[in-house]
Amino acid sequence: MKPSRRKFLEQSLVTIGACALAPFGCRWAGIDTAAPPATDRKRASSFEPAYLELERGGELARREERLWELMKSCRCCPRECGVDRIAGETGVCSSTAELKVYSAGPHFGEESPLVGRRGSGTIFFSNCNLLCCYCQNWEINHRGDGQYRNHEDLAVMMLSLQERGCHNINLVTPTHFVPHIVKAVRLAAAEGLRLPLVYNTSGYDNLEVVKLLDGIVDIYLPDFKYQDGKLAAKYSNRAADYPEVAAAVIKEMHRQVGRLEVDEAGVAVRGLIVRHLVLPHNIAGTDRFVRWVAKELSADTYVNIMPQYRPEHRAFDYPKIARRLTSEEWQQAMAWAREAGLTNLDA
Ligand code: SF4
Repeated sequence: MKPSRRKFLEQSLVTIGACALAPFGCRWAGIDTAAPPATDRKRASSFEPAYLELERGGELARREERLWELMKSCRCCPRECGVDRIAGETGVCSSTAELKVYSAGPHFGEESPLVGRRGSGTIFFSNCNLLCCYCQNWEINHRGDGQYRNHEDLAVMMLSLQERGCHNINLVTPTHFVPHIVKAVRLAAAEGLRLPLVYNTSGYDNLEVVKLLDGIVDIYLPDFKYQDGKLAAKYSNRAADYPEVAAAVIKEMHRQVGRLEVDEAGVAVRGLIVRHLVLPHNIAGTDRFVRWVAKELSADTYVNIMPQYRPEHRAFDYPKIARRLTSEEWQQAMAWAREAGLTNLDA
C-alpha cells in the first residue's frame, strides 16, 4: 500500500536522523533545518523536473523495468560482470540488489550553483564500481560503510531533503544503484518531490544506462579522471577503457541536458557540470582534458578543475601520487584551461 505523505515525513525524521551526518565533520557544517523562505518556495513551485513528464506518460515505469533487467546478468556499468545481483551475487562493486546508503543531508561543499543558499541534498550510496586507489571516501566506496535501506527509505530521504529546503537531490556514486533510484524517484514524485536530480558520477557508466536516464536526470555531474587507459587501469582497478567510456557518456549527457542553466538566484536547474581532479605528474592528463572539452563539448561548458588531491587509502603504494599537488602543477593546469579557451570555470 502506498504510504501517505504524513507517514513519509514522519519516517523521514527517523531516517534522516539515523543517516550519519557526523562522519563528514566540517564538510556538513552550516546545516540549517529551518523552512525555506517564501522566495525559494516560489522558485521551487515554478520549476518542474524532467522526470514528472515521463512518469505521467508511463515511460518512467518502462525505464525502471528495463533497468532492473540489467541487474539479472549485471551490465549496469562498463565492468559488465554478468552476475545475477537479484539472486544475491556480487561483482566488482560488491553490491547485490540490496540498496545500501551511507548518509543523506544538505551539503555545502559542492559547486556554488548546486549549493545555492540552502545546500545540495546529497545522498551517498555505499560501494563503487570504479574503485580508485586514492579514493577520498574509501570507507564508503571500498569498505562499503552504510546501512541497507529499502526504496521507501530512499524516497523518504529525497522528500526530507526537499522539505529542508535543499535545491536538488544529489545522488553520489549512483551507477550501481540506478534501478533503485528510479524506483524511489517514482515513489517520491507521487508524494510531491519536485527537485531536480543531480547524477554525481565517476564517469564510468554504461552508455545504455545513461541513455535510459534521458528525461529523468536534470543535472549531470560526471568526473573525467584520465585521458590515458594505462594510467586508468593502474590507479582505478583495471579500468583501461575509462577514457573512451567517460568521453562517450559525457558527450551523451551533454546532448541530453546541454549547457548549465541557472535560475534568477544562480541555482542550477538543468545542464552539465564536468569535474576534473588534477593529479601529481599530470597523471590525469589535464592538458588533453581541457582541449577535449573545448573541442567535443563547448568552450562554455561549466568545468570544475579541482586542486584538492591528497593521498588517501592506498595512494602511498604508488610513489607518483603519494603527495599533494605543487602550486606549479596547479598553476599549469589552470594555464592549460585558459589556453584551451574554457570560459566557464568554477571559481
Ligand atoms: S554495477 Fe557492479 S556488478 Fe554490475 S557490472 Fe558494474 S561493477 Fe559489475
